[in-house]
Amino acid sequence: MRLDTETSIEERIQRLQAGGIVDMHFDLPMDLYEKRERKKVLESEFLPDLETGNIFVVGAAIYIEDRYLPHNGLRVALDEVARLYAETAASERFAVCKSFREIQEACERGRIAFLITMEGVEPLADDLNQLRVFYELGVRSIGLTHARSNAAGHGGIFAASGSSREGLTAFGRELVLECDRLGVIVDLAHINPAGFDEVLTIAKKPPIVSHTNVRRYYDIERNISDEQIKMIGERRGVIGVNSILVSARKEESTLDRYVDHIEYIASLIGMESIGIGFDFFEFIYSQWPESRQKQLAAKFTTPHFIPELTNHSHARNLTRKLVERGFSDADIEKILRGNWLRIFEEIL
Ligand SMILES: [Zn+2]
Repeated sequence: MRLDTETSIEERIQRLQAGGIVDMHFDLPMDLYEKRERKKVLESEFLPDLETGNIFVVGAAIYIEDRYLPHNGLRVALDEVARLYAETAASERFAVCKSFREIQEACERGRIAFLITMEGVEPLADDLNQLRVFYELGVRSIGLTHARSNAAGHGGIFAASGSSREGLTAFGRELVLECDRLGVIVDLAHINPAGFDEVLTIAKKPPIVSHTNVRRYYDIERNISDEQIKMIGERRGVIGVNSILVSARKEESTLDRYVDHIEYIASLIGMESIGIGFDFFEFIYSQWPESRQKQLAAKFTTPHFIPELTNHSHARNLTRKLVERGFSDADIEKILRGNWLRIFEEIL
């Protein structure tokens, strides 16, 4: 009897995994850029984990580290895009997609789809024309800020209060309008509370928070409050649950706590607005010398990686946990892919 139950759970997990998983935030382009002297990095270092985890859409985030700013932001961003395209072209297994239809086609051909996103608009400086250029290059989701301030607005800090009280700049408001017009998803991850509110007064299409956690379990302004969660739900947006800020405490940074974040969002706004934004970062963090890890801790926070959820090969552990915690197959499918696909279909 017990064996039968275990078999049927395995079959459920297998079936749920086979449908594929959408991860809306992955710092892939910056890593490809740092390894630009090497070839086939994507195939050798990333493909095995992505395949094991049944990942079929990845939000590949252009991000510019402080050391390249202000002068080299645009150049590094373009190089990140170039590396992503070059690495994708060198493999049969990937495709850069610019529309819902292209994502569907990639899926039918058994390819992993990259959707290029931008985390912080530093590469655009304060020039709306540059948005058009990056749109043509394939950028289909934009978060105005990372944790810092820029020409568009201000980031939420890694503390319970103290972020700028200012909302968007005039440029930030223009960017949101233009994203809406072009069909670029507006991403509210990282932005400060005042900016969050202001984006929602401007954007007409469903907004997303590609990778975040709930302040209920980790109370920092980089995460989102109950009010903010409800605002996303009302607008039929989607919140991607982040794996590296589930708790301020290492011992509470567990897979169960990750699922607690999902359950909490569901308790406020239902199952239609929850997705995955793993934000796997351990692969970059572990490459850094200790001095640089300490800088990150001083500037933001020390990330606590969930042992069973540190890279894409671990995605199945999440699916199993969702089954164990009593989620229905229909709800698990929404979390793993369905809700994100709805956003892609509606906006892209
Ligand atoms: Zn981020």
